[in-house]
Formats: sequence, structure tokens, C-alpha cells
Amino acid sequence: MSHLFYQTSSFRPFLERGEGVYMYGQDGKRYLDGSSGAMVSNIGHSNPAVLAAMRAQMEKSTFGYRLHFQTEASETLAARTAALCPPGLDRVFFVSGGSEATESTIKLARQYKIAIGQGSRWKVISRMPSYHGSTLGALAITGYDPLTGPFRPMMREMPKIPAPRAYLDGMNPDDPATGLHYADMLEAKILEEGPETVLAFIVEPIGGASTGALVPPAGYMQRIREICTAYDILLIHDEVMTGGGRTGKFWGADHWGTAPDIIAISKGFGGGYVPLGAMIARSDMVDAVMADGGFQHGHTYAGNPLACAAGLAVLDEIDRHGLIDNAARMGALLKSRLTGLMNRYPFIGDVRGQGLLLAFELVADRATMEPLPPAMKAFQRLVDIAYDMGLIIYSRRTRGGTSGDHFLVCPPMIVTEDQIDEIMVKLTAALDAFAAETRL
Ligand code: PLP
Repeated sequence: MSHLFYQTSSFRPFLERGEGVYMYGQDGKRYLDGSSGAMVSNIGHSNPAVLAAMRAQMEKSTFGYRLHFQTEASETLAARTAALCPPGLDRVFFVSGGSEATESTIKLARQYKIAIGQGSRWKVISRMPSYHGSTLGALAITGYDPLTGPFRPMMREMPKIPAPRAYLDGMNPDDPATGLHYADMLEAKILEEGPETVLAFIVEPIGGASTGALVPPAGYMQRIREICTAYDILLIHDEVMTGGGRTGKFWGADHWGTAPDIIAISKGFGGGYVPLGAMIARSDMVDAVMADGGFQHGHTYAGNPLACAAGLAVLDEIDRHGLIDNAARMGALLKSRLTGLMNRYPFIGDVRGQGLLLAFELVADRATMEPLPPAMKAFQRLVDIAYDMGLIIYSRRTRGGTSGDHFLVCPPMIVTEDQIDEIMVKLTAALDAFAAETRL
């Protein structure tokens, strides 16, 4: 019996080692990591330059408490990160994961509004579905019932608007009217709640596990920026999954050129080498909070030199090997190959995403987008079949309150054309087996 209780119920071998896009189990099998873990291992496993940088830092120090010492690694990573952000966002607060990052954004937002005399504002509007983390604050802004349900009496749930899933509503995502249609739901919600009570709006620029790589319709990101500005509401981009280049640009929002007031990043920032995340905010906001008694928040391990040295080495490797361009090129290739599967499998209802943040959704009927019966547990079964064939993909079933099985295919940004061929061969074999088993 394992003493751990958060493992999957399906068989999984012990991990032997990882190298590049591959992981090796103690069962002697090689697995292609087609989801970069949970969209984390962006530069692949066991990158020698990152390991060397970590070793060098470990020889000097692995921890220096932020109230006792400054560290070169955290200063340098903060400067590098700020330089990657839109103008004005240049103050960096390190954390150790995505939930800590989003939690930090809403606390900074709240303290900033108090500092400038807008203490009546406390509501953070978010979307349904969405995922912003598992701590109680992050959960209050998360739109995913199975996770939030048990804790509802313990938290102050925040207002939600629908995520812009044009493909389910029969709308054309390339038509700017579609973007306006969904963005205007934000304005309606602000007016319903009372603008003087609304603190912020948080959005994943391109959806992650919650929506299955949902790319917003034309005009959406620009319009939500305008609405937030008009009502003096802070715009938070949750780039925990999209930040770091996976979508083919460093920030997911770079595809629309819109700038938020605060950004959260994690996952690919530490690249699977260390737990690392950050919040980056406008300097005037941070200055106002610091002048008003300081930020009442923080975590012990935040900004530790080992994590920051690894984070720096990850950024270096992304630059050195042109991995963001590779994510754009390989992502376009993989997306067209996944789209091609729709000819072969009528039960693939949609293929979506940007760069190497890609997903496909299984349905009972493509015309109506009716989901597969939940009892089929497609989200689990297809993942297990693919796993047995040596391909790791990531799935969720999050179609509103009912169901909807989507699968993320998000290999590391170092993936080659040959490895994309390998993903497609294995995925096709898995889908064939799934179709035969379910008689779809
Ligand atoms: N925000 C987004 C968009 C995420 O995808 C995740 C994790 O999947 C989180 C926040 C929470 O990150 P973590 O699991 O590191 O706490």
C-alpha cells in the first residue's frame, strides 16, 4: 500500500528518469511526454545547462531568507522577468507555484485599492469555467464546480461570467462581433454587482485545463481591457500556464498586444526543475501599497536563490535555442495534424489552441456538440490507452455542469517534427483502440 493518497487510480510505474521529451519508467518503458507533465516541462527534462546552473547555485547557497539577505539570483531573475513584461509592469514578487501567484494578485489588487481610497472594492470577477488554483482564495475565483463544491460554505464566492466558448454556442470566433458579445457580459456583470464594489477581473488569456486551450474570439481581449479601464477595475492576466512561450509568444496575451495591470506566471517559468512562480505588477500600484504600510502577504520559500537560478537558466535556454519560435512552428504543424484527425474520427468535435497549447474535444455528435455520456469516462479511458502505448496526454471533463471531455496535447517546446510524427502515430493508435472499445 502506498502512503500517498493523491495518485491516479490507474496503473502508473515508478519514474526512473526524464530526458528531453521522453520519460522512462522503472517498468522499462519509454513515454513521450505529450503534455509536458501538467504543461510545465516546457524546455524538456534534464536539460544539462539548467542542471549545471542549479548545481553551481547549490554550491553557494540554497536558501537565504528575504528579510536577511538579497540574492543575486532573485535580483537578476526579477530584472529579466520585468524586461519581458508590457511597459509599466516591472515589480516582481516571487512565489513557489501558480496558486500562490494568483492568490498574490488578488491580495495586491485589494491592498492597492485600499491604499488609493477605494476600499469598497473587493469582488474579483472571473469566468466559468476557469482554473486559478486550489488554495481557498484562488478557489473562490475558480470556475469549476467539482473543486469548489465542498468548500463553498468556507469561502466568499466571487461573481462569474461565461468563458467565450464560441464553438459551443455556434458563433464564429473570427467575427469581432463574437468577441464583443462575450466581453460585454463582463460589463453587464460589473453593472449588476455595482462598479464601486468590483476590484478586478481575472482571465487566462488562452485557457488551460479548464476550457481545453480556449483561444478567445477576435476583439475579446481588447474589449475586456477597455471595459476594465472604463470602470477603474484592475485586469489580471493569469499566465500561469500560458506565460513562458508555450503559445508561440512569451505571454499568451502578446497575441493581442493587450496589457494587464498584474500578471501571474508559474509552471514553465521553473520548467519543472523547481517550484517557482511570480506576480508582476505596475510599479505605481506597488509603490502605493508600500507607502500604505506594505504588502501583507508572503511565503517562506519565495525567491529562494536555487529556484531563481533555475528560472534564469530556463529563460536562457529558451533564448539560446529559439524555443518560442519552435513552439509557434511545431504548434502550427501539430494543430494541423490534430485537425486532420477530424476526418477520421467523427467523435472529435473540436480542435483548438495556439502554439503548443493545443486540445481536442470528444463529443457524441459534432453537429450539436453534445458531450459523450459521463459514464463512458472518456477523459480517463483515452488517457490510459495512450499511456499504455507510451504517450502521455492530459485530460479534463469540464463542460459546465454536465460533461465534455477534452484532451491537451502540449509537448515540450523542444519537440521536433519527427517527435510530432511519433505523437500522431501513437495518438491515432490510441483513438482507434478507444473507438473499437466504445463502438463510437
Ligand atoms: N492558474 C492556471 C491558469 C493554472 O493552469 C494553474 C494550474 O494548473 C494554476 C493557476 C494553479 O497552479 P498550481 O497548480 O501551481 O498551484
